[in-house]
Amino acid sequence: MTHIITEICLRDGGCAEVCPVECIIPGKPQEEWPLYYIDRDTCIDCGACVPECPWEAIFPEEDVPSDYVGKGTITVHGSVLPQRINKPQGTPGFDQVYDGTNGRGEAVHLEGTRILKKGEVVDLTPGTALNDAFFQEGPGYSAKD
Ligand code: SF4
Repeated sequence: MTHIITEICLRDGGCAEVCPVECIIPGKPQEEWPLYYIDRDTCIDCGACVPECPWEAIFPEEDVPSDYVGKGTITVHGSVLPQRINKPQGTPGFDQVYDGTNGRGEAVHLEGTRILKKGEVVDLTPGTALNDAFFQEGPGYSAKD
């Protein structure tokens, strides 16, 4: 089994810092691959990444929710921020910009987001196929360079 980073990821990056097998890769180009992605062939399913994500975006594969209920706001590094869904730039309906900082204080700029309202129900399972596409069709580990 593996863990999956879902589309409520806003590239905090704390997950990649703690992964003991370095199998979490920041997507690049960011416009096309806006999340961080987990290589399922290397993931040892340890769960260390889960508590490091302030956006609570990481789930064991078998628990990725098809009926995720939006929280409205999430406290991220001491700031209360609107929760968002993050898609590739140009995805219809996802045209809001997110400007923030990640866990290392680096700027994060995303242009394919929208706010996830409190109580709104969304399917996060498509993130699993997108994760696999990143390694099979996208840049995979070469995005680290
Ligand atoms: Fe890395 Fe463990 Fe998270 Fe898998 S579950 S991505 S091995 S930190």
